[in-house]
Amino acid sequence: MAINRETPLEISHDEFKRIGYQLIDMISYFIETIEEKPVTWGETPSQIQAILGNGALPEAGTSASQIFSRTTELLLNHSLLNGHPKFLGYVTSSAAPIGALADLLAAAINPNVGANILSPMATAIEKQTIRWLAEFIGVSPTYGGILVSGGNMANFNAFLAARTAKSPKRIKESGLVNSSPKMLIYASKATHTWIEKAAVLFGHGLNAIRWIPTDASNKMNTQLLIQAIDKDKKRGKKPFIVVGNAGDVSTGAVDNLSEIAAVCKTYELWFHIDGAYGMPAAVLPRLKDLFNGLEEADSIAIDPHKWLYAPLEVGCTLVKNPQHLLDTFSSHPTYYNFNNQFEEPALNYYEYGLQNSRGFRALKVWMALQQVGKDGYIQMINDDIELAKLLFELANRHPELEAVTHNLSITTLRYIPLGYLHDHKMDEAYLNNLNEKLLNELQHGGEVFLSNALITEKYCLRACIVNFRTSKKDIEEIVEIVVHKGREMHQKLQRNEVTEDMDKKNR
Ligand SMILES: *Cc1c(COP(=O)(O)O)cnc(C)c1O
Repeated sequence: MAINRETPLEISHDEFKRIGYQLIDMISYFIETIEEKPVTWGETPSQIQAILGNGALPEAGTSASQIFSRTTELLLNHSLLNGHPKFLGYVTSSAAPIGALADLLAAAINPNVGANILSPMATAIEKQTIRWLAEFIGVSPTYGGILVSGGNMANFNAFLAARTAKSPKRIKESGLVNSSPKMLIYASKATHTWIEKAAVLFGHGLNAIRWIPTDASNKMNTQLLIQAIDKDKKRGKKPFIVVGNAGDVSTGAVDNLSEIAAVCKTYELWFHIDGAYGMPAAVLPRLKDLFNGLEEADSIAIDPHKWLYAPLEVGCTLVKNPQHLLDTFSSHPTYYNFNNQFEEPALNYYEYGLQNSRGFRALKVWMALQQVGKDGYIQMINDDIELAKLLFELANRHPELEAVTHNLSITTLRYIPLGYLHDHKMDEAYLNNLNEKLLNELQHGGEVFLSNALITEKYCLRACIVNFRTSKKDIEEIVEIVVHKGREMHQKLQRNEVTEDMDKKNR
């Protein structure tokens, strides 16, 4: 081996700059022209596979610049663009451009934010980001927590902290089964599937979830919550956590948080809020009442990769008393010399969650919060909500659309053919089929991307606007597209029926 080692991974400084500048040029152009492109090309998995090819693991290397020119072609021309102004699907946001630059910088420094000693500045930045998120939603800045990969993980972390806090202390040694009467979980029917994953994965089982019915506006019925808890306690069970939704994933409804908080106080239960999607809206002064009770939560999940427009992935667990996270996750193996470096105690994030080595996902959030400030977010979140309202109003006014729900920045609606009300042949089943087919068509067509929601048995189209690029014009055009495609789909279905009828006659 030569004295000065040459490795195939190192890129010459000149090449690094050349590729880097070119890449930045391409990304800049990509963002500049994003609205002229289709939201998706609608390519099938096998088409995508054919474009990618089936090459075996390369034996020898290829130059970085060759790899980049092929990869940018693959990704820029064959991806679904959630940064497009007409992408309003699921809860996937347009990514802040500063986030892309932040991720590049974070990867270049590559701090391991599991331990302070490995990431002195990055750890401090994560800590500050978490404090800013607490300030953002208006809870005490003494809440602590950790950034994780997303909403599911943020909720899991909180769930585990709750369990540690509310179970007998010997759970750590003896395990769940031998430690406690059956521990029960209370969540409304509108709760995201993370709760089922948590119940299964953490050893409680699905039967440990008490599904509390929701009222007509999709909020947890607090009276039925109290009844369920009373009944379980009488039977010797051990209720331990209640999950409130602050923006349920389907319709954006915010539970009555202060009522749930009061119940949790009375029964000494852990009050967790799943605010993965909706919690950032608490920053709007005019919505203060809607989120009343939030500051009483023992834990809160919030997803900066949703309504704070951070690129994937980043979620956040906030815990009122972060000691519960330490009690849950901390251990001190002999092979870590993480606590003896300075006089002061070190903040080691591996002790606050499931991960050990951790990336610097805080940076993109921290930078975006500074780029636009709280005021910038207030403006963008408010605009998203106003646009969702506009969509609801336009749908309400249109003779061929039914506006179904509007909460926060989520609007649900469906296409109803003209004359439907007078035509008994078209029942609800037909409308559901029509709207499901319409949604599939829209999701592949590339003009607009919506998702779906089932609301009181109605199959609805669902627009969730966590997109700072969407404008009034987009919303007006989306209404036109939905109506146009809805008519086409209806005609198509009618023709099929006609052919079916004719087939029968001919037989
Ligand atoms: C999106 C969402 C989740 C899951 O978050 P991920 O980031 O997708 O893991 C959980 N709860 C609610 C309310 C959500 O909107």
